[in-house]
Amino acid sequence: MSLERTGIPQKYIDRLRATVVNDTVMHAYIFESDSTVDKVLLAREFAKAILCEEHTGSACDKCLTCTRIDNENHEDIIYAETNENGTVVDKEVERIQGRLKLRPLVGNKTIVIVPHADTITVRAQNRLLKTLEEPLGDSVIILLSENIENLLPTIRSRCVIYRISNYNSVPDSEYMTMAQELVTMLGSKAPFYKLVKIIEPIGSKRQEVISLLEAMEYVYRDILVGKSDKKRLYKRQYIYDAVSVLEAAKRDLTTIIGIKADYMLKDVLLKIGGK
Ligand SMILES: [Zn+2]
Repeated sequence: MSLERTGIPQKYIDRLRATVVNDTVMHAYIFESDSTVDKVLLAREFAKAILCEEHTGSACDKCLTCTRIDNENHEDIIYAETNENGTVVDKEVERIQGRLKLRPLVGNKTIVIVPHADTITVRAQNRLLKTLEEPLGDSVIILLSENIENLLPTIRSRCVIYRISNYNSVPDSEYMTMAQELVTMLGSKAPFYKLVKIIEPIGSKRQEVISLLEAMEYVYRDILVGKSDKKRLYKRQYIYDAVSVLEAAKRDLTTIIGIKADYMLKDVLLKIGGK
């Protein structure tokens, strides 16, 4: 039940839970929302869901791991601290990065929660980028933000983004979250069956598939625009190719009668994923 404690709309909870159950937890997340969402609580509940010994997608709130996370004395959950001005200073970012180099102490993942990630200086963000570019297999970093625009595009392009609204949701945000997840997974050569699990809720409705393809295209273009650093996670050509696959699929979906939209979507993932 624990993710429900955050009070955020069920659809976000379902997606986070599916991520845990399907073992598709990524290395970096941004949770963006206004102050009506207790983002630290949300990050903690997500961390619990990931590490809970029951592994049901939801924290059991009873096992030793859950209890220790609730009591804030779990060695593998690291909180970034803010100074008296509510700012995450450069030194704190360095401390976090140092900790991420170590293996988890008790569980199988180290989870870093960074409240007020918006306040990290550009300098420290650039340094943090190196950690995001070369993630260790057993770490998850969760950046909490009130306004994602304060984070560098290069940071954003390496994170799965949840833009959470307690009010009537922006319809596109679900597609964007899904697209972010897919693009990140494709980039890290996730196996096909995991990709298929992500797109399950989309089904075979043509318009929904098109909306998802558009969202993916948006994500790729965003990466392209945000690229300025040397160590690129994606080659430019890879993104161009991905975008042209998406364009072609959208064209086919809008012009060919009787084409199967769900089949088309899987085909797109295979083409971009390369296998
Ligand atoms: Zn538990």
